[in-house]
Amino acid sequence: MRHITIVGASLAGLTTARSLREHEFDGRILVIGDEKHAPYDRPPLSKEFLAGTSSEDDIDLTDPDDASLGIEWRLGRTAGALDTGERTVLLDDGERITTDAVVLATGARARTLPSSVPEGVHTLRTLDDARALRTELVPGARLVVIGAGFIGAEIASTAAGLGCEVDIVEAAAAPLERALGPDLGAVCGRLHGRNGVRMHLRTGLAELVGRPRVTAVRLDDGRELPADVVVVGIGAQPNVEWLADSGIPLHNGVLTDERGLTDVPAVAAVGDCANSHRSYTAASMRLEHWTNAAQQPAAAVAALLGREHTAPAHHAVPYFWSDQYGHKLQFAGHRTADCTIQVEEGDLDSGDFLALFVDGAGTPVGALGIDRPRSFGRWRRRLAGRL
Ligand code: FAD
Repeated sequence: MRHITIVGASLAGLTTARSLREHEFDGRILVIGDEKHAPYDRPPLSKEFLAGTSSEDDIDLTDPDDASLGIEWRLGRTAGALDTGERTVLLDDGERITTDAVVLATGARARTLPSSVPEGVHTLRTLDDARALRTELVPGARLVVIGAGFIGAEIASTAAGLGCEVDIVEAAAAPLERALGPDLGAVCGRLHGRNGVRMHLRTGLAELVGRPRVTAVRLDDGRELPADVVVVGIGAQPNVEWLADSGIPLHNGVLTDERGLTDVPAVAAVGDCANSHRSYTAASMRLEHWTNAAQQPAAAVAALLGREHTAPAHHAVPYFWSDQYGHKLQFAGHRTADCTIQVEEGDLDSGDFLALFVDGAGTPVGALGIDRPRSFGRWRRRLAGRL
């Protein structure tokens, strides 16, 4: 193998390139990225960067040592097709790149509303999105966030800190319900109320009012919330449509084995675009978590190069964090349909606790901590111990 092409120039793509050099791969590494920016960190986009307390330099993922890695970059260029027979990546400007192996690291994009939207309506996934939203979050601005997932919750938290008037609209009965279930979702959702953010549950978006600029959000139940700015935070979808004719198995992302290898020889997928088999859940899962995008490439690179790879056991346990209203939420493991909640430390009412998700057989399979980093870290390792 003399030439490896990575599609996607973000966390997983950059980590793949570094990992190849760590494995002493001395061939050509080409990274293609459709954003014009060098790799940057996304978590601050809804937190410090949006708040204006960190800069573009602060969120730059590259470091001076990367210059010595001899990586070729094609930034601002989009991969439009992959011919797996010829091992060729076709770029939007007609360039054809023939390569020995391909690592797919194309991540995910923000889900959008089906119809066109007025001015003042945003999604948040990219640096450009964050730049545009940041200019609108001025003190006194009325912000409506559609969707009470993690990104929506963080934007609400940041905007409230900037002095905006914030409403959150959520169709489910509790915020964060998909990830944490109704009970702990509701507990985490109390952070909003304590910080002056209004939550509207069990109601959806009927219409964005105002043209050319949004002036209000009309809800399914007929209420109208005045709005100067709206953020649509209704999830993300994997960037895999361009692979439709490639023959690579796709289902909610690129299907891979535990290491990130697809069914097609010399093609791997890592990070948010990969729907990988997870030993922890004994099932395939597509994770949209920073830690997965940072850790999976080492395993995929080792597998591609036919090398050994050993990682600490807790790397197999899905993990993410979220920062809201000055609190750190950390989650590890997963939530089964039959699980019950067991509070290990603190109490739910105070909003400072460590709780376990216990499956039907009585085994802890997940842990959620708010401002409990030490005990959370212990539980993260204990969860790994059951593997
Ligand atoms: P991405 O970062 O999505 O990068 C994929 C790159 O590939 C993009 O630049 C994309 O434009 C490019 N691309 C796509 N298609 C093509 C193509 N055909 N050709 C060329 N390039 C292409 N996770 C946490 O655990 N905790 C957090 O607090 C947290 N906060 C977050 C806040 C925000 C606002 C966002 C957006 C994400 C957050 N995440 C968080 C998730 C985390 O940032 C992602 O898991 C991580 O960025 C995934 O990295 P990736 O490289 O797999 O994909």
